[in-house]
Order: sequence, then C-alpha cells, then structure tokens
Amino acid sequence: MFAAPTRICRVAIPAPLRTVFDYLVPAAFPWPSVGARVRVPFGPRRLAVGVVVEHADTSLASGKRLKPIAEILDSEPVIPGPMLELLQWAADYYHHPIGDVMATALPAKLRRGDPSVLHGERVWVLTSAGSQIDLSLFGRARVQRRVWEALNAAPAGLRESALAEVTPRWRATIEAFAAKGWVAYDDLDCLEGGPPATTAPPTLTPAQAAAVAAVGAAAGFAPFLLHGVTGSGKTEVYLRAIEKVLRQGRQALVLVPEISLTPQLAARFRSRFSAPIAVLHSNLNDQARACAWLMARAGKAPIVLGTRSAIFTPLPRLGLIVVDEEHDASFKQQDGFRYSARDIAILRASREHVPIVLGSATPSLETLQRVRDGAYTRLTLAERAGGAMMPTIELLDLRKLPHEDGISPPLRAALIETLARGEQSLLFLNRRGFAPVWMCYGCGWIAPCPRCDARLTFHRGGARLRCHHCGSESELPAACPTCRGTDLHPLGEGTERVESALTRWFPQARVLRIDRDSVRAKGALEATLARVREGDADILIGTQMLSKGHDFPNVTLVGVLNADQGLYSTDFRSAERLVQQIVQVSGRAGRAAKTGRVLIQTFHPSHPVLAALVHQNYDAFADYAMEERRQTGFPPFAHLALLRAEATAATVALAFLRRARAVARGIIPDTVQIMDPVPSPMERRAGRYRAQMLVQSTKRSALHALLRPWIERIGELKETRRVRWSVDVDPIDLY
Ligand code: ADP
Ligand code: ZN
Ligand code: ZN
Repeated sequence: MFAAPTRICRVAIPAPLRTVFDYLVPAAFPWPSVGARVRVPFGPRRLAVGVVVEHADTSLASGKRLKPIAEILDSEPVIPGPMLELLQWAADYYHHPIGDVMATALPAKLRRGDPSVLHGERVWVLTSAGSQIDLSLFGRARVQRRVWEALNAAPAGLRESALAEVTPRWRATIEAFAAKGWVAYDDLDCLEGGPPATTAPPTLTPAQAAAVAAVGAAAGFAPFLLHGVTGSGKTEVYLRAIEKVLRQGRQALVLVPEISLTPQLAARFRSRFSAPIAVLHSNLNDQARACAWLMARAGKAPIVLGTRSAIFTPLPRLGLIVVDEEHDASFKQQDGFRYSARDIAILRASREHVPIVLGSATPSLETLQRVRDGAYTRLTLAERAGGAMMPTIELLDLRKLPHEDGISPPLRAALIETLARGEQSLLFLNRRGFAPVWMCYGCGWIAPCPRCDARLTFHRGGARLRCHHCGSESELPAACPTCRGTDLHPLGEGTERVESALTRWFPQARVLRIDRDSVRAKGALEATLARVREGDADILIGTQMLSKGHDFPNVTLVGVLNADQGLYSTDFRSAERLVQQIVQVSGRAGRAAKTGRVLIQTFHPSHPVLAALVHQNYDAFADYAMEERRQTGFPPFAHLALLRAEATAATVALAFLRRARAVARGIIPDTVQIMDPVPSPMERRAGRYRAQMLVQSTKRSALHALLRPWIERIGELKETRRVRWSVDVDPIDLY
C-alpha cells in the first residue's frame, strides 16, 4: 500500500488560545505559502480566516482527526517572512495569542478574508449631462435621488467609500447612472500626494545639520534619540533624513502618537516631497486602510505615516524609521495585545538593519537610560529654530492667591494683556465637563457612579451627570437622596466651567473649547485646529488634546490651571507624565516671532519637579526622577509585568491572583519577585471588581523565563472560569 504523504499546515487563528492549529492540505490544493491566509473550519459551524505559519508532516494534536483547509486566500504570503518573524517575536514577548497578534497586523478587510489584490478606489462625479437632469425623472426612486443629491453636493466627486455611506445600494445606482452617461469616474489610489510646494527648505542650524549628518552616516541599525526642545526643528531633521532615504529609492516609516497629528505632518511632507504618502490610522474606512497598507507592502508608497499599528506594515525596501514624540503613552496599546509600538520599532529597525530616530522634547526615562548605557546615540537640539525664543515660565502659588472659576488674578491680568495685543492664549486643564463633583450642601453627599468607585462629573451641556470611567449617565437628581435637601451644586472646575467664565469676563473675545466633548464629531478636531491656526480664536481652553505637537504660531500666553494632579499620585510614572504634558503645552507658546509666557498655577510651588520645569531643565528633572526610580526599583532599573484580573464579585479577583501566585512556586527564579495581590486603585469599574499583581525583576530574561510556564499554569486553574485575566508586559499604567 502506498499512501500520499500527509501535508499539514499550522495556522494562526484569532482566538483567545495561545496556540496554532493544525489543518490538512487537501490533495487537490497546492501547498499554501507560509504567510498566506487560509479559510478553515473552526468550531462547530464557523469558518475562520487564519495565517499559515508553518508547514509540517506530522501533527502535534495527536489523536484528533484533522480537518482540511477550506480555501487558500493568497497565492503569495500576505505577511512576508520578516514581518511574520517580527509578529511571532511580539506574540512571544508580550505573551499574547499569535492569531490575535496577526489580526492586529492586518487591515480589517484582509482579516475578514477579502482579496489582497491592490486596486484603487474610484471617485465618481456628475457629468454636465448628469447635473442638468430633471429631478422628476427619479419619481419615487428614493435611493437614486439620494445618490444624485450627494453627488451634486460634491463638485469634486465622491469616493466609492463615501457613496457607500450614502446608501449600501450605491453600486447599482452608479452603474445605472453610468449607462446613461450621467456620471464619470477617476481612478484614485489611496496615497496622498500632490505637486511639491515651491517653498525652499530652510538652511539647517548647526545642531540640525549635525543630527542630519549623523543619521545619514548610519549604515545598518543605528538607534538615535533626537532630544530637541519644542520648536527646535526636529521635524526638519526627519524631513532631511527621509529625503535621503527617498533618493536611495527606499521607504521611510514615520509613527506619531495621535491620529490628529497625521494631517499636519502629512501636509508638511507633501509640501516638501512629491513622493506619495500612505497614511494609516484607525479612523480610515476599511477600504482606504487596506489600500494604503497594500501599497506600502508592494513597495509603492515611499513614505508611510501612521499611528501605533502602522509599525506592522510590511515594507520591502525599508530605509528608516522615525518615532515622533517617543515618550507618548499612546504608543502602548492598553488592552488586548498590549504591545509598545516604540519598542517594537526598535526591534524592527535592528532586524531590518536600518537607522531609527526617536524624537522628543521630553524623552522617556527608559530611552534616556539607553542613551546612558551607550546603546542609543543622543542628538541634541538645544535651541529653537528660526530665531524663536523659549517662553518664560512662572509659578503662581494658589495657597496665597484667590481664584475664581479656576483662574487667579495674575493669570486673568495676563489674559487681558494678551487680548489687548491681539494675540492668542491657551489654557490647559486636564478635566472635561463643567465640574468634577456634584454635591449636596445640606449634608455633603457627593453623586457617585453606581457602577464605579468614582464620582460623577457634571456636564452642563445637556444638564447631566456622567461617569468618565464607564460612560454611565443620569439626570440631575431633584433632591439629595440622603437628606432630601435641594441645595445641590457643582464643585470644582472642568473645561466647560472655565469656558463659561471666560465668555462672561471677555464677551468680545472668541473663546474656543477643545476636549473630547467639543470635538466628538469626525473631523471636528482638525476643523477646530485649523480655525486656531488661522487666528479665528482668542482664547483656547482645552485638555491634553491641546498639548500634543500642534503648532499654534500666534499663541503667546499659556496658562496651566492645575499642575498638581500627578505630583502626589500613586503611579510611579505620574511625575514624568506631568512634566511631559506641561513642557509640551508650554511649547505651544511663542513659536514664531513672539516670545511666549507660561503661567503655572499650583499649591506646591516648591516641589522639585516644578522647580525643574521653571528652569526648563528636562535633564535636571530626569536626574531627579531617575534617582527616585533607582531607589524604588522601578523601570528603567527593573522590568515589570502586571497580572490583572476582574470579576463580578468583590473577592474573586483577589483570590484568583493569590492562586496564581501559589502556582508560581517551584518555577520562580530568585531574581524575580511577585508582589502581593492588591485591589486596583479604582477597584470597582463598570460594575466589575478589579485587582492586580506586580511582577518585577532586574533581569528581563528571568522575568520572561517565569512568564512562559507560569501563564500556562494559570490558564489551567479552575478559577479562570470566574475571572477575566490578562498579562501586561512592560505596563505603562499600573491600574
Ligand atoms: P519641532 O518638530 O522640534 O517642534 P519644527 O520642525 O516644527 O520643530 O520647527 C519649528 C518651526 O521652526 C517650524 O515653523 C519650522 O518651519 C521652523 N524651522 C525649523 N528648522 C528651521 C531652520 N533651520 N531655520 C528656520 N526655521 C526653521
Ligand atoms: Zn444631602
Ligand atoms: Zn462609572
């Protein structure tokens, strides 16, 4: 008897299991490539899309009858070899299921199994015949009428993805219109590009020139920290470094922390390069994202600009990686696959032998430590470019000053002066809503969230109480539930309250609020930022949304309303976070010809962190914070993992963590410590009780040597049935 050899594929499937699954390749099929997608039966009635990670001739799943692959979706690997290896490394390092990691790397359309062929979107426009038709022609054909009206309102035409938002049945309508000669289309691919502007690049400052030269001279892997004060021309350094990469016919990958920063940076790239840009972020529709991703993967996009997950874009001719604002916490995904895009970027640059530039005015302590170790090269831009001066920074002592609606008299006087000069002011308060507390003056009752250990925030718009942690909302109570009194009031300030005070004090001024509530609609933030840049605002009041990288040349006064959130917080990173935010927001002041002034209100003016801020000495702050970390044994002097658990009953999560700690016995190396399980700082959130347990080691390898077998043991505990649990490697937030 002669049997054909068994052909088996190991497939990564998005599922919570930390394993790959074996499938038979039917005799009629060719071998699917490693890195190609296949459709496979998964569970009783379901077909899943997975990625082939290995070929084999014997199955590891002994005894089980293997199912055959149902369909091969790609004739070539959709995830090329180097990317597949990077993803496998990431799954391993973050101890996350490989199928889920693969799914994060793929655009949604490909994840669902759509073909990976590259085709651009079409843009449809009405022809002149189409725009002159008699509308009564449509009679009761409402869909046709709607499509016609949408096209008529868009003289530049509509993308197919935009038509799909008008009606799901757009395609039949468009085909009918096309047959009548009413519409025409242009093929448009998804890359942004345009004619290069005529503005000549500036002459580099000596510091910029040195930085550009250092990056340009790198052959192979070379990590750089570009530490430049706000407005020092870091972006100009990126542009020159990218220019060189483009001349070599290679690709540059640029990561930014926030979606809202992509249009600004894309515009700057466009004004310098004629090369098309693939922009990748989560706000794109599926079609546009898949298209940009495939263009990048095909090597057709010389510049790829994106947020966190863009780090997983395959680039066949990668020549440079830039991570802008490298300190930003947004580079770490906070749920599911908890990866750090910055850290993976470093690893990717090293595996693909290219230079990487981490840019920041306020580098993370981890990165500074790598510089001190000699692993990264530091490039410094100590002064602002183009002759602009650094702003002056002063503290306002709230212990000695009265304040009304969050603003002290000196800050108010500065606002008046700035208004009189016709310049812009920016006020920073990291608390949205009208007031953080709704209180009964009769008995002191404070409105709590019914589902969290948190207070409700009063939002005057809509006159409601809202929880910022779980989103639950309620009407204002007519009377106090405790004493039946009706003397209920908002207490403290949020951005809404400051906005209303400003409008009252300065009725002639244009006051603009920028926070998550005011820019909820798609595109609203971009529109608001554009208004600010065009000078159509006198005073801005906003949350940390304002602090990130936006360039407002006419802002000359920055007020930080409350610097104290963060000075005495339980999180070891809170001081670093605070300084980064204040430096960033101060950096908005006086970016062009005008010198800026920064006023910081605080109850703790002698705190060393604030003193370092006043002297605008980030290195002094870093020294102080580094010493604190050394003494307390926190990163960068130790490596952490956090085991989190949550359950619907109070003691279950803690009991689970205690069990988890017990099963580490026997496999825990001496160099690793598992701390006591503790309730999370906000124990109850959205009705669930949360607890956590910190694992710490000075040796990264020892930590990971424990995690691998330990997670397996934890997974086998019967207690896992009553909790949701996760492991966060290199956690950013310890709650
Ligand atoms: P950063 O990225 O460090 O915040 P930017 O690159 O945005 O700084 O530069 C700040 C401003 O200075 C921008 O308006 C930029 O056009 C300008 N600029 C940058 N480099 C130079 C230079 N060498 N000469 C003149 N102006 C410059
Ligand atoms: Zn009361
Ligand atoms: Zn809540």
